[in-house]
Amino acid sequence: MTLNQIAEAYVKLVLAVGQHDGSYVDAYYGPAEWQTDTAKRALTDLLSDADQLLQQLSTLSAPPADQRLRQDFLMLQLTSVRAYINQLSGTHLSFDEESIALYDAQSPLLREADFDLILAELDQLLPGEGDLNARLSTYHRGFEIPRDKLDAVFTAAINESRARTKKYISLPDEEDFKIEYVKDQVWSAYNWYQGNSYSLIQVNTDFPMFISRAIDLASHEGYPGHHVFNLLMEKHLVNDKGWMEYCIYPLYSPMSFLAEGSANYGISVAFPEVERLQFEKGVLFPLAGIDPAQADLYYRVQAVLQKLSYAGNMVAKRYLDGEVDRLAAIKLLMKYALSDEKRSTQRVAFIEKNRSYVINYNLGQDVVKNYIEQRAGKVDEPHRWQVFTDLLMCPRTASMMGQ
Ligand SMILES: [Zn+2]
Repeated sequence: MTLNQIAEAYVKLVLAVGQHDGSYVDAYYGPAEWQTDTAKRALTDLLSDADQLLQQLSTLSAPPADQRLRQDFLMLQLTSVRAYINQLSGTHLSFDEESIALYDAQSPLLREADFDLILAELDQLLPGEGDLNARLSTYHRGFEIPRDKLDAVFTAAINESRARTKKYISLPDEEDFKIEYVKDQVWSAYNWYQGNSYSLIQVNTDFPMFISRAIDLASHEGYPGHHVFNLLMEKHLVNDKGWMEYCIYPLYSPMSFLAEGSANYGISVAFPEVERLQFEKGVLFPLAGIDPAQADLYYRVQAVLQKLSYAGNMVAKRYLDGEVDRLAAIKLLMKYALSDEKRSTQRVAFIEKNRSYVINYNLGQDVVKNYIEQRAGKVDEPHRWQVFTDLLMCPRTASMMGQ
C-alpha cells in the first residue's frame, strides 16, 4: 500500500468508527460515497483494520522530506483511532492513560495546594469579603451580556477577529460562517465545519455569556481558531496536495489537541493584551451596555482566573478515576475553578461526555504557545502569525511539538 492508499483506508476506518459513536466524526468533507458506503461493522473487524494499517504504515520506506510530518501525524492519529476502538469495546483506561492513548499528551499532576496561591491573589483583587465563589459570582453578574444584545456583541467580536486574521492569513474569497443560538448543550459554543470553507458556529444560551467570552469564542470558534484551521487543512492539504486523511476530523484524537490548543492560543495572537483591552473598552463594553471603566479590573481578574484552568483537569482526573463522586467534583470545581454551581454542573456533564478531552484546552494551549514562541518570540507579530499559520497547515501532535 502507498501512503495515499493508507490515508484513504484511514478515512474509511474513522467513518466506520463513527457508526458506533455519533460524536466521533466531528467534520467530514471527503467523497460522499465513502460515507454512504459505510455499513456498521463489528468493532473487532475495525480493530484488525487499524492494526493492519499501522503495520503497513510502519513498513513504508522513508518518505520524502515534505511527507515525513504527514506520515508521523497519520501514525499517531491511527494509534489513537485504535485506542478509541478498544475503549468502545470496553477497555477501561485511567485518565492519564486515556489522554496519552487518544491525544498523545498527559496533563501535569496538580493538587489543591497548587491553586491556593492563585485563590489568595484573587481574594485580594475582588471586592467584598468571605466565600470567594459567591463573591466572584456577584462580581461577574455585572459583566453578563444581556440576551437582546448578545448577537450584536458577538457579531462585532467575530468581525473584528476575522479582519485581524485576514491581515496575516490569506483566506479563500468564499470562506464564510453562520451563527446560531441554541440551548441544552454541555458546551458554551461549537464550530461545525461543513467543508467548502464554511462553518456553522453555535452559541449556547443556557447561561448568560460574560463579556470576556465574546472575543474568546469569536477567536476560538472562528478566527483564527477552528474555522480557519479547518479551511486551511481543506485548502492546502486536501485540495492542493490530495492528502485525504485531512478530510476527516476524528474528535477524540491528537487533531483535537492541536485544534483546541491553537484555537485558545489564537485568541492572544489575534488580540494582543493592550489591543484587546482597547477594543473591549471602545466597542464591546458599550455595545453590551457595560461601563468600560470597569474593564481594567475585570481583565485583571480574568487573567488570574486563567491560571486556575488546570484545576478542571485535576477535578476531571479525580472524578473519572473514581476518587471523588459527582457532587464532590462539582464542589471541587466551585472551589478551585471558581465557576458557580450551575456552570460547574454543566462542566461535570462535559467531563462525563468528553472525559480526558479537557486537557486539550489548557495543556494544548500551553504546548502550542511554547512551540510558537520558541520559534517566533512574543513581540514580532508577523513572525508569530507566520509560525502559527505554518503549524495549522502542517499539523503536529503534542509529542511532535516537543511536549
Ligand atoms: Zn474548541
